[in-house]
Amino acid sequence: MTSQINPQPGIMNIAPYQGGKATLAGIDNVIKLSSNENPLGPSEAAIEAVRRSAMNMHRYPSTDHRALREAIGNAHGLDPEKVICGAGSDEIIAFLCQAYAGPGDEVIHTEHGFAMYRISALAAGATPVEVPERDRVTDVDAILAGCSARTRLVFIANPNNPTGTMIGGADVARLAAGLPPKALLVLDGAYAEFVDGFDGGAALIGARDNVVMTRTFSKLYGLGGMRVGWGYGPAAIIDVLNRVRGPFNLSAAALAAGEAAIGDTGYVEHCRAENARWRAWLAEALATAGVPSDTSCANFILARFADQQEAERCDQYLQSQGLIVRLVAGYKLPNALRITVGDEIACRRVATAIATFKGVA
Ligand SMILES: *Cc1c(COP(=O)(O)O)cnc(C)c1O
Repeated sequence: MTSQINPQPGIMNIAPYQGGKATLAGIDNVIKLSSNENPLGPSEAAIEAVRRSAMNMHRYPSTDHRALREAIGNAHGLDPEKVICGAGSDEIIAFLCQAYAGPGDEVIHTEHGFAMYRISALAAGATPVEVPERDRVTDVDAILAGCSARTRLVFIANPNNPTGTMIGGADVARLAAGLPPKALLVLDGAYAEFVDGFDGGAALIGARDNVVMTRTFSKLYGLGGMRVGWGYGPAAIIDVLNRVRGPFNLSAAALAAGEAAIGDTGYVEHCRAENARWRAWLAEALATAGVPSDTSCANFILARFADQQEAERCDQYLQSQGLIVRLVAGYKLPNALRITVGDEIACRRVATAIATFKGVA
C-alpha cells in the first residue's frame, strides 16, 4: 500500500543545501577555503562572552534580543526597533518566505544567486523564478522583466555569493522603485561589511516601504558556528517577521557572542583590512598564473578556468595538497572555483598550488 502521508507541495523539489567540505580522507592539517569563514577566527571578546554565558545555560535566553539589537543599532546607526535577529541570516530569509510567499506566489532570485532563496521559497510552497545575470553581475532590467503580478519577493545578494560582484546604489534604488506593488525587495548583505563605507542599503530602506536587508555575523565576524544573523526593515515588516519567529530562536551563547563581536571594533577593522590585503594579493597571483577573476567585493575570489574539466582537475589537485575550495557548478558556474580569502599562509599555499597546476610555478 502506498503511504498517504505526504509533505506539503514543493518540499520534495528541494535539493538539500550542500555545505562546503571540511575534511579530506587521509590528510590532516587541511586548509578549509570552502565556506567563506573568517580565517582569523572569532574575536577573543566573543570567546570570553560565550564562556561566561555557559554558567547560565539553565536559563532561557532573551526573547526580544534587546541588548543585541541595541548593539547592532549602535554599530550601524540603525533604529533597534527595526532590527530582528535570527539563527543566522538564513533564518531571516526563511521568515520572509514563510510570511510573504505561498502557493501560487513567485520568488525571484538571480542566475548565480545564493541557494537558500530557492530552498526557502520551495519550503513555503512558493515558486522560485530564476532571472539571468549579465556576465556574473546582477541585472536590474532582467529582474524587472522577470516580475509578474505574482511576484512577492525579490532576493539579491549585494555583494553576491559566489560571484563576488556587486551593483551600485543607483541600480538598487531603480530596482526598488520599479517593482510591482506587491513585491518586497530583499537585500542580502552577508558580505556588506567587506565593502568600505557601504551601508548594505540601509538608507534606501529608510526612504521606502518595500525594501528589507539581511545581515550576518557568520562572515566578517567569524561566528558561523554560533548562528547569528539579523534583518532590518520598515517597522510593519519587522512586526510581521516577529510573529513567525520562535521566542527563543537565538541561544544565550549566540546572543552573547554577537554582542561582544560587534563591540570589538579594533578586531573587526583588523579582519577587514587583512581580507582586503590578501584578496588583492591572491587575485593578482592567480591572474599571473593565467586564472582570471572578477574584482571581488567580498571575502572570496571566483577563479575562472578554461572549462568545467579544468576546474574539476584543479579542485582535485588542490585537494591532494590539503586545500579545500568550492566547486560552484550548482550555481551555474561549472568552469569556476570559489576560493575563500584565507590568512597569509593559506593564500600563499593556494596560489602556489594553482600556479603548479597551471604549469607556471
Ligand atoms: C553565508 C551567506 C548567508 C548567510 O549565512 P548565515 O550563516 O545563515 O547568516 C546569507 N547569504 C549569503 C549570500 C551568504 O553567502
